[in-house]
This record gives sequence, structure tokens and C-alpha cells, in this order.
Amino acid sequence: MSLPFEQAEQDFNISSVSSDETHKEKMDRKKEERESKSLLSQLIELFQLDELPEYFIVPKRISFKLGEFCQHQTVIELSPKQYQRYFRADIDWQQQFMKSFFVSDVIIPEIALRFGKYIPVGDVETMDGCQRMSTAVIFINNDVCLPDDDDLEFVQIPGQDHTEDLRGKYYRQLSVAAREYLLSYELTSQVYYNLTPERAGHIFVNILNNQNALVNQEKRQAISSAMSRWVQETARFGPIEDSEKKKQSKSVFEVKEGLPSHLKHFKKGKEGQHIKLNVDQCLAEIIFMTMSDSYITQGVSSGQITKFYKKQAESYQDNFDSTHVEKVLTFVNQSMRGVPKAKTLTLRAFRNYCVMISQMLKAKVSVNPIDFMNCYLKAIDNLSDKKLVPADLTKTPYQALMSGSKASDTNGVFKLLWKEMSLITYKSTQLDLVRDFTRKETEDAYWAQDKICAICDHEMPEFGPDIHGDHILLYKDGNPTTPDNCDAVHSSCNWRK
Ligand SMILES: [Zn+2]
Repeated sequence: MSLPFEQAEQDFNISSVSSDETHKEKMDRKKEERESKSLLSQLIELFQLDELPEYFIVPKRISFKLGEFCQHQTVIELSPKQYQRYFRADIDWQQQFMKSFFVSDVIIPEIALRFGKYIPVGDVETMDGCQRMSTAVIFINNDVCLPDDDDLEFVQIPGQDHTEDLRGKYYRQLSVAAREYLLSYELTSQVYYNLTPERAGHIFVNILNNQNALVNQEKRQAISSAMSRWVQETARFGPIEDSEKKKQSKSVFEVKEGLPSHLKHFKKGKEGQHIKLNVDQCLAEIIFMTMSDSYITQGVSSGQITKFYKKQAESYQDNFDSTHVEKVLTFVNQSMRGVPKAKTLTLRAFRNYCVMISQMLKAKVSVNPIDFMNCYLKAIDNLSDKKLVPADLTKTPYQALMSGSKASDTNGVFKLLWKEMSLITYKSTQLDLVRDFTRKETEDAYWAQDKICAICDHEMPEFGPDIHGDHILLYKDGNPTTPDNCDAVHSSCNWRK
């Protein structure tokens, strides 16, 4: 790491200075101000200004009291979406964590705060320690209580001559001494400032989280950009969603009773499973594949998507034009709603469908969402037919290509799908299932034509096997086999045609 960090020895006072002050008065005043204000508050105040004073050196680490942190909870972003993993603290975890403040042999690990430029939400961002700090804030707001553990039966609060029973207590039920003890509990934080989105992502993934295995999608989402924010907003769901946003959502990822409507069949546990479901990843791939053609030559590997995210963070930090992808998703949503079987699609098959719709929309070809989905499902069925599995393999060519992410795999899949769909569309929507006219229909036409052959204009012999019914408008162009489309003709004329 090469960030210009140094221990703070500097004067953080930036308030205006009266010129009448003597040097000593000035020093005393500054000393007083420094002592009365902790580093955390000073840093927040300084970074809320547009420009840092030139002399200012940001400390690498700061200590702060829990109570002070809580005072700033409105400007500190406690749960930035880009650093959220699928793990979310449940009440048990929160209670056990709060217990650690009162049980002396537990050390609370330091957190990481980010100040300065490029922070997507709020003035200060909690890069690491989101669970811990939000839990402490929730506790002080009386929304969670301590656990009913034996360890908390006789707690010695410093400065008290008796022990306290803290089992199951809410903050408001604690003694004044216990509350003061908690509010003045010292925590430490690493300090980062003016990180570019890409750098912040790198630090989160490689430094703060290098003990945890992050999935590729989590790594990418740590890089903030207008696009990744859109992906998070659109793909993530959970119990805390404001109703206004739900209404605005046009995508198939629309939140309904906690889960996007088309993902209900994926539901395995509680809400908040978006990363396990890879909904973020699916949406990121849809965006990548509908907005850039590079998947055709580069494939859709996680490396390619990461590259796309980095470019977005670099060039489009504030803007993301979601118009096209929203159009695609709206269309796809109609397909999903109209065809119940579509809910069985895997995310990758769902993604491919979106990409095909995108191509249709770009080519200004109008298709019916329900017909198109039915045709797509039929194509997948056909391409997955066991009869297509080569002798020495276990998958059909389509299935084999679907499990890869190289350019050749992706292109191969689309080639197979388009071809299969064109065959299905031709048969099912353009050709009448009945190819031949009945003898009765043919005879009716024979008499209606006064026995004159519709092809050669000569009189035909007595009605019999040599008289054929012929389509007036061609069958192969999708015309129906109905009496009003029937001509009686010589069988010989029919063959010649
Ligand atoms: Zn004829």
C-alpha cells in the first residue's frame, strides 16, 4: 500500500482565527479545542469541507468512543451496499456481539472508515465493521437487547462497588454507570481517504477482507459506479425496501413479498439470498451482454465482467443509462408473467433469453413476449433431448456449451438457440398442422369449379383418386388447409407444380 498515511501530529483546527489573538492565546485556544473534540469528529468536520487544509495529514488510525460514533450516525453510512455480503447479522449474533462489550476478555476488532471524495452515500463510509457498528447503534436505540446468558449475571462495571445483572437488558434498562461505560467504550478504526472507487474495491477485497473467501460478484460489487449501484438496487431484495422503490421498479427483479416474482421457485431460506442466487451476477451479465458486443469475442468470464465494472467505475461514476436494459427487462417480465413454465429457467438460461430479446429490440423486430418465450422453452427442450447426447458423453452439445463461459461457448449456444427457434416458429406459427384436404373438401371444390382443373384449365375426369386438393395460397408460406383455400386439380398437374 502506498497511501500517504502518517500518524497525526497535526493541528486539525480549521475554524476562523481572529487576528487580534496573541500567539499564546491562539495556541491555548487550539489546544482547548483539540482536547474537547475527538479525532473522529474533527475528521468528519474537515472532510465535510470541499478542500482539506494543505498542512493536514490524515491519521492512519483513530480511536473513538462508541457514544461519539453514535452521535454521527446520520453522516456515517453504516451499510454500504457494495460491501454487503450475503451474511446478515441475525438477532443471536447481535446479542452475542453486544455481550462482548461487557465481558472483559473479548476484544472488538478494529473497523475501517473511509472519508473524503468519491463516497457514493453519506460523508463517511464504514468499509469494514458494518455489522458491528450497526449492531451497536441498534442496541443504543433500544431495538435489540443483551442475551439471557449466565456470563451477564454478575457484571462488574468499572467504578461501581457492586455487580449488575445485565441478562436480557435493553439499553434503557441499564444503570447510568453501565450506559456511560458503554458510551465511552473505546474502539479503533483504520482511516482511508479520497479513495477512487476502484481503489476502495481493491482495499475491501484484498486488505480488509483477505481472510474471507469472496465470490467474484462480491469482489466486483465492491467497486462502486452508477452501474453497480443500479445492479444492487435492482437485483437485491430483502425485508427493508421502501414501497416507493418497489413501484418504480420495472424489472423482472421487482420485489414482491420479499422475493422477485420470477425467483420465487429459488427460495430456499430466508430473504437476502441474492448473492447465493447470483441475481447480481445475472443482471451484471445481462447489462454486459446487451450494452457491449465484446462478449462475442471475449466471452462472459468473471474476468471480463470485472473489467467491465472497472471501466464503468472509471468512466461512468455518476451516470448509467439503463434505458435499453430496462426495456429488455420489461419485455422479459411480460414473458415471465404470461408463461408459468418460464419460472423454471436457470439464471443463465434467463440471461440468454434477455440477450436474445435485446437483439430483437435492437433490430426493431416485433415479437410477442408469450410466443417468444414458449418458443424459447421448446427450443431448450429440443436441444436438451437425451437423443442428442453423443455416444461417449453425458450432455447434449447445447448443455455442454451452457456450462462454459468462453466466447466459443456463448456464441455456440446462441447459434443453436436461434436455429432451433427459427424451426419451431416456422412449424408452430406458420404451418397448419393439417397438410392435406379431405376428400369431401376436394370434391366440393371440384363441383364448385365445374370440373375445370385450376392449374391447366381443362376439364377433369370423373371425381376419383386422380383429382387432388391443392392449396390456392401456398402451404409452405404458412397458409391454412381450409375449404376456402382449396382448389381441385389433376394429380398430374399437381405433381408438375
Ligand atoms: Zn390440370
